[in-house]
Amino acid sequence: MRATLHMKILLSLLLLLLSYPTLALDTPVTGQQILESANKTITDITAEEVDQLIKNHPDTLLIDVRTQFEIQQLGTIGLYQNINIPRGWLEFRIAENAPSFDTPIVVYCGTNVRSPVAAKTLMEMGYTNVSNYSGGYFDWQEKGFDLYKGTLDSSSLLYQRPQKVIEDVYSAIGAPQPSTYENSGHNNNLSFIVADDAVVVFNGGGSYLLAKALHEEIKKVTDLPVKYLVYENAQGHAVFGGSYWKEQGVEIIAHENMPEILEHSSPQMIQRTKNNLKDKYFKSQLVMPDITFKDQYVIPVQGKKIVLMHFGNAHSPDDIQLWMPQDQLLISGDFAFNERLLPILGHTHIREWLENWDKLVALNPQIIIPGHGGVTDLDTVTYYTKDYLSYMLEQVEMVLEEDGDLTDAYNIDQSAFIQWKTYRQLALRNAATIFKMLEFE
Ligand SMILES: [Zn+2]
Repeated sequence: MRATLHMKILLSLLLLLLSYPTLALDTPVTGQQILESANKTITDITAEEVDQLIKNHPDTLLIDVRTQFEIQQLGTIGLYQNINIPRGWLEFRIAENAPSFDTPIVVYCGTNVRSPVAAKTLMEMGYTNVSNYSGGYFDWQEKGFDLYKGTLDSSSLLYQRPQKVIEDVYSAIGAPQPSTYENSGHNNNLSFIVADDAVVVFNGGGSYLLAKALHEEIKKVTDLPVKYLVYENAQGHAVFGGSYWKEQGVEIIAHENMPEILEHSSPQMIQRTKNNLKDKYFKSQLVMPDITFKDQYVIPVQGKKIVLMHFGNAHSPDDIQLWMPQDQLLISGDFAFNERLLPILGHTHIREWLENWDKLVALNPQIIIPGHGGVTDLDTVTYYTKDYLSYMLEQVEMVLEEDGDLTDAYNIDQSAFIQWKTYRQLALRNAATIFKMLEFE
């Protein structure tokens, strides 16, 4: 009896060892051996293959398994498919990021030590479409593919600290990409103007903490209190920081169409932003404006004329522009873009946007702080905004004239914009949205 029992125990132990060949309980293994064993089971791919995979499958999850510290110091891959899950959290954070077990996944790190083990772990967890980008971040950088350079100073959440545009006007230029955990939702431009008696802030920022980070920078420039905050529109990166500014007793100004849009879109917007920002969403809340206006509003500060305008329907029905006539400086909000593709939203009025463009030109602005992308001039925003809108409108109209369908809209040649940031997220979506809008005109 005893002998049989022993035999049974031995046999099951043996089976256990056979089914977990890497978990040889009684044989110590080195990290090097774990790595070698991982390398035998995983599939390595090159930078070019990663690039191709993402073009064919935009739903690919690109996972940088390095630490947040390395990413802040060095940067990471600048594609929206890229997320950061440090190796230590991989098992626990993969499920919330990969919608299914056959989602295409590519893992990478710096020197191909952590990522093979990460790839093997994911395969053991049941993910069936996992590759290891063995070249990793440094190879990607060397080959000149898109990079995301985080803020080099990890003591601020801002993607970039504010730059001085002209005397008393500053702008913290956001990342030319969607809102991500890594960029802390700082993907639009957060500007401020120092008047004689108070500071005016243009855009609330994507979260409470981001607004606070901007305030820290403002305090380095002036002791004057922030008295007014302008929401450029009802989008998340314009409004979530409102909760911080409200705590500071700031009055919030928006277009009269804004509250209704905000109420309408808020549940989905909150959920999306929470998913993106996680702990960085801390204390963020939607706060309604105190002051709204229709066509024009002069902000009552001393020593500077600051005029808020609404050119009319464009990117959103509640877009606001800020004009400083003495300096011929325009903070355009999302009426004008630079460096990246603009989004066509459900409530975008493409024809009116183009018609209202003349109102911007009539001001003859010498300096433009666009909604997205660096500080620039009229020619540049015309190229990134008006020219793109005109081209897409004309192309979709042609598709409709020839009785084309949605597939023809998707096939519109947008190769001229392929180098623009956010091309991959927006090019096809824009074509489809414009098609659906015009189809029922
Ligand atoms: Zn925007």
